[in-house]
Amino acid sequence: MSERLDMKKSLITGINGMDGSHLADLLLKKRYKVYGMEHRSSVEDRTNTKHLEGKITFLTGDLSDQDSLLRCIKESEPDEIYNFGAIVGESWSAPEATGDVNALGVLRILEAIREFNPEARFCQASTSEMFGRMVEDPANEDTSFYPQSPYGVAKLYGHWITQNYRESYGMFACSGILFNHESERRGNEIVTRKISEGVAQVYLGLKTHLTLGNLEAERDWGYAPDFVEAMWLMLQQDAPGDYVIATGEKHSVKDFLNIAFQHIGIKNWAAYVKQDERYMRRAEVDVLRGDSTRARIELNWKPSIDFKSLVIKMVENDIKILREEK
Ligand code: GDP
Repeated sequence: MSERLDMKKSLITGINGMDGSHLADLLLKKRYKVYGMEHRSSVEDRTNTKHLEGKITFLTGDLSDQDSLLRCIKESEPDEIYNFGAIVGESWSAPEATGDVNALGVLRILEAIREFNPEARFCQASTSEMFGRMVEDPANEDTSFYPQSPYGVAKLYGHWITQNYRESYGMFACSGILFNHESERRGNEIVTRKISEGVAQVYLGLKTHLTLGNLEAERDWGYAPDFVEAMWLMLQQDAPGDYVIATGEKHSVKDFLNIAFQHIGIKNWAAYVKQDERYMRRAEVDVLRGDSTRARIELNWKPSIDFKSLVIKMVENDIKILREEK
């Protein structure tokens, strides 16, 4: 691959995750040279990035290992760094590792940038989980945080340290406070993909029912490719800042089920869903909804698809995958 001199270079941590892979797709389209940092434990699972092999450069790195971050930054000399690397879903079983990677990992990247690449622009993937027990609905950039899990607490450190380095060292460091966002690449431990896959299995006669937890929870569900585009837009502005990225609509798990089952011609979805204590949360976040007015005005950003289209897209994709596997 010959490199053009004006080609921008980017480094994406968490490259094998849903967001990392969607951002790589976007940056390739924009003719960036893309470096993707993967943790050694995720090298084995390139489901989301198989199609990127040969198109991007994979680097092995670890957010809990400062030297590895320095190496990745020296090797890639990025103009832009996006941090999607995080421990997700092990909040309660591995709270210390969650803190080390999701909180201190951000500090390590910022320190590596400060030392070796101070002109690089940085975007942190912050999360609506930082709002947890929402004190304002919908939440905006000025709403107080109230995280409800070690994951949310750790992410809050990452958020504040990004702001702190921006203000203390004048770094171009931004945070995207991302509300729930999904796509066909979501892992099936997350409720949206668990439902889309389960509904596809019911449709194809591979399963008789789905087993879920709390069906009343409400989330502001958007489409992941839109959300990574918002992160890119943040780094193209004249000045750095923090932005809530959200659709502004909330829907319950029941709403998701209803649309997904209706799409396969089933009206009484409740007959196909069982509830189990196993999937109930220790400290549930009942509702999350964001107000993305700032992003819509300053970044000229808006979601490209609505909730119903998102659900149908995910169900259709799972039906297609399962048919191919048959
Ligand atoms: P989160 O918003 O990052 O926690 O995303 P999840 O997709 O993991 O959970 C969204 C909501 O769905 C939460 O309120 C869960 O309690 C609820 N939920 C209900 N059943 C399930 C389930 O079987 N798995 C998961 N992951 N969440 C479930």
